[in-house]
Amino acid sequence: MRITLVLGDITRQEVDAVVNAANSSLLGGGGVDGAIHRRGGPQILTECRRLRSAQLGKGLPTGQAVATTAGDLPATWVIHTVGPVHSRQEDRSGLLASCYRESLRVADELGAAVVAFPAISTGIYRWPIDDAARIAIQTICGTPTQVAEVRFVLFTPDAYTAFEKALSRHR
Ligand code: ADP
Repeated sequence: MRITLVLGDITRQEVDAVVNAANSSLLGGGGVDGAIHRRGGPQILTECRRLRSAQLGKGLPTGQAVATTAGDLPATWVIHTVGPVHSRQEDRSGLLASCYRESLRVADELGAAVVAFPAISTGIYRWPIDDAARIAIQTICGTPTQVAEVRFVLFTPDAYTAFEKALSRHR
């Protein structure tokens, strides 16, 4: 599997699946989530509501992932995953790793070859970017998958640099 880094907006990526850093309600939020629903149009929210009323009555648990259509986005699917809120009292890195692992599992189920990820939990959920980048790269590299390219789409130069560093340390 190939890992690529891009500085940009995940909603513009022409890929098979984009991963959304959602919240467990699946009913929309700020950051990446807001951007995906804005640009993807109402179809994504309609499918999220359907998932909530079917198998996800209590919402999507932290660390898990589920797919919907990508609506008007240039991608085919959105894989929604819920990152943990960063805590200084409790180590939640297993949950952050689980987001990447579970998203790849769902991508494999869909047959997605190219998957774009944001830096999960590093916005509203306040995970320090260097640590988040390390967990992201280690988990993606350590997870067996049929996905051919994982593209990290970083929104700020700082995030891009952190992922570049994490990737060079890993190789
Ligand atoms: P979380 O709640 O998991 O922290 P956020 O959406 O607040 O999720 O932030 C996750 C990361 O996504 C942050 O690094 C933020 O800068 C970045 N981000 C925000 N908008 C976009 C976008 N359109 N494309 C890619 N990354 C984005």
